[in-house]
Amino acid sequence: MDYSNQKGYIFYDGDLVKWSDAQLHVLSHGLHYASSVFEGERAYKGRVFKEIEHTKRLIYSAKSLDFEIPYSENEIIEIRKKVLEANDIVDGYIRPVAWRGSEMMGISAQSNKIHFALAAWQWPSYFSPEAKLKGIKLNISKWKRPDPETAPVNTKSAGLYMICTLSKHEAERKGFDDSLMLDYRNYIAEATGANIFFVKGNSLYTPIADCFLDGITRKTVIKIAKEEGISVSETRIKIEDLNNYDECFVTGTAAEVTPVNTIADFKFKPGKICEFFIKKYTEMTLTE
Ligand code: PMP
Repeated sequence: MDYSNQKGYIFYDGDLVKWSDAQLHVLSHGLHYASSVFEGERAYKGRVFKEIEHTKRLIYSAKSLDFEIPYSENEIIEIRKKVLEANDIVDGYIRPVAWRGSEMMGISAQSNKIHFALAAWQWPSYFSPEAKLKGIKLNISKWKRPDPETAPVNTKSAGLYMICTLSKHEAERKGFDDSLMLDYRNYIAEATGANIFFVKGNSLYTPIADCFLDGITRKTVIKIAKEEGISVSETRIKIEDLNNYDECFVTGTAAEVTPVNTIADFKFKPGKICEFFIKKYTEMTLTE
């Protein structure tokens, strides 16, 4: 598998191009200085889940990096539709990306062209609820989510993922599936590409999203909980508090609702609350 060489079409700066032709120059600002933003979205049975929210977040991420995507919200929605149709995708993953080009090569990039591409590939829901309920194992990373005064923390911008890749590599080398990341104050923040929830009794607890991505799935889970009369506290959680919780799960467009059975030496038993949210979230992706 090589993502640069698949069959199909990618939207690239105005046109649908052959997949392997969607290339960029090595002197692109986006590559050298991480002036790049992206989204991770999913289509379920032909419909893009939370399409407007993802589109708005992409535009917001670009604005936060001081550039503007050269397409409107509606145009991006049209482009996405075209790409899904051209590649015959019903259940898939969608990756829009915007980045600064090569007109200036230095820190300043005032007049660089903004490029935009959108790719999509087949991605069926592989895991049955039973398989998911086994849970995943998280390491605890030494890398910390930064202070909001250090970086635009509530964006999906490439630069923020440097520490996520480092954390995930370390976790995988040690036999974990992923890593929990603390924030700059040592509060629990999130996983490398997903938000985190804890369960005590029938209540949910999740870190306050003040220095990391307030995920669309996170917001969806909070909404489901409120509709179902399950209390949710957005609160400060420390490592030593982990003994207090019975269940734990992560949420994200790719992860959906994935139970966690281990964080370092702490154990959790995926149970009825994990099961409930897996079921409800899945229903929502297929009906909303
Ligand atoms: N945090 C990070 C760092 C992520 O990359 C993601 C995935 N986009 C999430 C949280 C979850 O966000 P969402 O639910 O919007 O996919």
